[in-house]
Amino acid sequence: MKTDVALKACADYEPARVKEAVASLISLMGGLDKFVTRGDAVLVKPNMLAPAPPERAVTTHPAVVRAVAELVLDAGGKPFIADSPAIPGFAITAKQTGLGEVAKALGIPIFDLKDSTEFKAGEKRIFRMLELSRHALDADRIINLPKFKTHAQMYLTAGVKNTFGCVVGSRKAQWHFKAGTDRIFFARMLVEVYHAVDPDLTILDSIVAMEGDGPGTGGTPRQIGLLAAAADAVALDRTMLDIAGGDPDNFFTLCAAADVGVGETDPSRIRVLGDGAERFRQRNFHFPKTGKIMVGPKVLQRFIINHLTAKPVEDRSKCTLCNKCVEICPTEIIAAKDGRLAFNYDKCIRCFCCVEVCPEGAMKPVTPLLLKIVS
Ligand code: SF4
Ligand code: SF4
Repeated sequence: MKTDVALKACADYEPARVKEAVASLISLMGGLDKFVTRGDAVLVKPNMLAPAPPERAVTTHPAVVRAVAELVLDAGGKPFIADSPAIPGFAITAKQTGLGEVAKALGIPIFDLKDSTEFKAGEKRIFRMLELSRHALDADRIINLPKFKTHAQMYLTAGVKNTFGCVVGSRKAQWHFKAGTDRIFFARMLVEVYHAVDPDLTILDSIVAMEGDGPGTGGTPRQIGLLAAAADAVALDRTMLDIAGGDPDNFFTLCAAADVGVGETDPSRIRVLGDGAERFRQRNFHFPKTGKIMVGPKVLQRFIINHLTAKPVEDRSKCTLCNKCVEICPTEIIAAKDGRLAFNYDKCIRCFCCVEVCPEGAMKPVTPLLLKIVS
């Protein structure tokens, strides 16, 4: 039996149009009562990465979040909006993203996912114990609302990676560090978080997606005009990769999902419902130049890391020395000195947390010369 992914065209964020498209997607997926029962506490989990306005395409658009929350209310559910942004200051993130306003207008809660609790993932998993938000684990239902974006470390971020928001903010950097320099290993951890969180339904906002140096303010908004839904976020991510025209070997969470047998990664086993994928196919979508980190002897790894992987560099003309990157860096290798930033690149694990949190879009992944030549 094939795994269903539903696609629906939606030209812009006009609220009535978005709600109609979301309702149509849910109907294609079998109707909301398949996913929400009257009285269910439903975590509506957007991407609230950073305090950026909706037009920057950093976060899930409020019109999409509102449409989903309204439909859950109509079905008798009790929705609450929650995430754990990378940058401290949930209130300002809620305000700037427009999601605070949605919660206020609908009279529903919105809050920062806190209270980490241990989740035993089982003996077969590499990460046998994960630390996840208690609110996420206690919710009766989870509707995952990712934004489709490029990601300097993971190539793309969509359905699977959005569940990383259920790891409480202060723990995220530690998990980056635990997963180390090996992106495949980090991707494996993301897949295991996704498997543990196990969202009931994923509805992806790709009306305006992000290309280039995502996932933060360094990326560039790109109109695709698409909303997509699936119960299996891996199948949804695979479908979006094809629409963007990406290389499956570079999409690390997809590779990891195939390795551990989570979700459907084989496009021949995915059935696309609604508007056909062909009408959304992108030409010249700009992917980040992530390069590939390999395993092997430490000397070779260091050479590869320094010469064949992108590294974070600040644009001094934009940097306000706000110190956010210094504070978030899990390896503490950024220091503000003499009016500029200094990095110890030998110890940089290329997690690109610094790129994600930079409010000015000043921190960017820069491709070394050798990687450019090899590419
Ligand atoms: S400098 Fe940036 S990419 Fe390197 S470890 Fe620190 S936060 Fe991660
Ligand atoms: S977060 Fe951005 S603006 Fe702030 S110090 Fe780092 S590079 Fe500069």
